[in-house]
Amino acid sequence: MFKGWLIDKTTDSVTTDLVDIDENSLPEGDVLVDVAYSTLNYKDALALTQSGPVVRQFPMVPGIDLVGTVRESSRDDLTVGTQVILNGWGIGEKHWGGLAQKARVSGDWLVPLPDGIDMQQAMAIGTAGYTAMLCVMKLEQLGVTPDKGEILVTGAAGGVGSVAIAVLAKLGYQVVALSGRAHEADYLKSLGATEIMPREQMTEAGKPLDKARWAGVVDVVGSQVLANACATTQYGGVVTACGLAGGMDLPATVAPFILRGVTLAGIDSVMCPKATRLEAWQRLSQDLDLTKLESITQTIYLAEVKEKAEALLAGRVRGRIVVSIKN
Ligand code: NDP
Repeated sequence: MFKGWLIDKTTDSVTTDLVDIDENSLPEGDVLVDVAYSTLNYKDALALTQSGPVVRQFPMVPGIDLVGTVRESSRDDLTVGTQVILNGWGIGEKHWGGLAQKARVSGDWLVPLPDGIDMQQAMAIGTAGYTAMLCVMKLEQLGVTPDKGEILVTGAAGGVGSVAIAVLAKLGYQVVALSGRAHEADYLKSLGATEIMPREQMTEAGKPLDKARWAGVVDVVGSQVLANACATTQYGGVVTACGLAGGMDLPATVAPFILRGVTLAGIDSVMCPKATRLEAWQRLSQDLDLTKLESITQTIYLAEVKEKAEALLAGRVRGRIVVSIKN
């Protein structure tokens, strides 16, 4: 038996409890992992509080991230004792996830823990930080170099936003942080933001094209904020869109794309190919200042997860949450 969160559905309700689970009920997979840490991402918070349709089958162990040690493996490329990371691939949604002491998964989904990052740091980064890195890599691929101008990071005090600011600042970009939390200005500056922009400046409907400012954007908010970000991006600039914290809609016009050659680049971490994941984790081990990562992160125990999920969705959590699985 092992401890884990289990979301289950009866005929008239959905339950979410920390329970003892029989190892024989773990799903199929060629690798069994002793989970050391997981995290709490926005998507996990939606699943744990039944606030969004994240869980696709029941019963489900939530948790879209995990790090741990291979306990059993039927693969030549993954030996017992290897420390591995798993982000996405549907865990916590359609395959049992990381908020439990054990996980049985496909070895194809696992990435070796990179040198220079320990297991707790890997989950401080988690899907949020790895997605932030995917956004930065996309800006680079599309030619947004630090000399091109300012980068806007929205949802700045959240998980993706905090890591994006720290990485961009270390790479020499000038970063403007859009945040609804004025009291986090010192925190955002300590990560490397040069200016804090109040969220209200971008939540009202704006013009199809407005004063061109951003060379690049990392957007986690979607909706009107994303529309306004596109409308204020420079000629040839790039807007990376990875989130929907402000809404799933996009009340925009095509003007920025056809008149300024702006690129709107979608970022998905869940089904991202393995080669890109390996590159992102390698880059994180070089381009993220681990002392900043410490200031971004708080660690909680497995039993505290549900309460923290509610706080996260209410916008009361700053940065990243690591979940210690062992005790
Ligand atoms: P967090 O909850 O940690 O951060 C989200 C931030 O968005 C908040 O901290 C807040 O920042 C801002 N925000 C919250 N509500 C609103 C609102 N109504 N309007 C405007 N801004 C708001 O979440 P994460 O950083 O983990 O994830 C952010 C988004 O990215 C989520 O939608 C998540 O699902 C998505 N995501 C997508 C991935 C992908 O593969 N595409 C992977 C990872 C995340 P502040 O207080 O500073 O304004």
